[in-house]
Amino acid sequence: MRDMKDKNSKNKILFSETDIKDIVCRVADEISQDCKSMGINSLNVICVLKGAFVFAADLVRQLEIPNINIEFISASSYGSSDVSSGNVKLGCIDNLSIFGENILIVEDIIDTGNTLKKLTEQIKSFEPNTVRVCAMFDKPDRRSVDFDADYVGSVIPDEFIVGYGLDYAEMYRDLPYVTVLK
Ligand code: 5GP
Ligand code: MG
Repeated sequence: MRDMKDKNSKNKILFSETDIKDIVCRVADEISQDCKSMGINSLNVICVLKGAFVFAADLVRQLEIPNINIEFISASSYGSSDVSSGNVKLGCIDNLSIFGENILIVEDIIDTGNTLKKLTEQIKSFEPNTVRVCAMFDKPDRRSVDFDADYVGSVIPDEFIVGYGLDYAEMYRDLPYVTVLK
C-alpha cells in the first residue's frame, strides 16, 4: 500500500495543513463573534466521533468563548463502504445532560444530511437553549434530506475525501491534509 504520509506521494491534495488552519481560524472566528453578539459565554461542544475528532480538537482551541465543555457522541452510517447506508446509528447520546445549554454540534462532513438531521432532532429533544451545527466540509450536491449547517469550513464537490479525521474503512484519519480517495 502506498504511504499517504509520504510528502512525495502523488496524491492530489485538496486541502493542505495551511489551508486547514486558515479554515479553522475563520470558522472559529464566526462562531466566537456570533456567541458574543448573542451574549453566550458558555458553550457545550458535541463532537461527532469518529470523523470530527481532529477538527473539534483544533476548533475548540481557537474559540474565544469563556466556558467550553466538550462531549463526544458517535454516529455511523457508512460501515466500511464509501456509500452512505442512510441507516444512522447514534451512540452515547442518552448520557447527555444538556437541558438549557448552548450546543455546538461539530461534524466532519455533511453528505446526504441524514446523520445531522437525525442527530439535531435528537439533541433538540433534550430541550437545550440553542443548537448550532458546524461541519468542516459540505457536499451539497449529495443532499437527500433537507439540512443546512450554521457554519461550514468548505463546500466541496461530490468526491470521497480522506484525511484530517476522515477515513476509508478506518484508515487515513491520521493524515494531516485532505485528499481524494482514488
Ligand atoms: P451523511 O449522513 O450526511 O450522508 O453522512 C455523513 C457521514 O458520512 C460523515 O460524518 C462521514 O462520516 C461520512 N462521509 C460522507 N462523505 C464522506 C467523504 O467524502 N469521506 C469520508 N471519509 N467520509 C464521508
Ligand atoms: Mg462522521
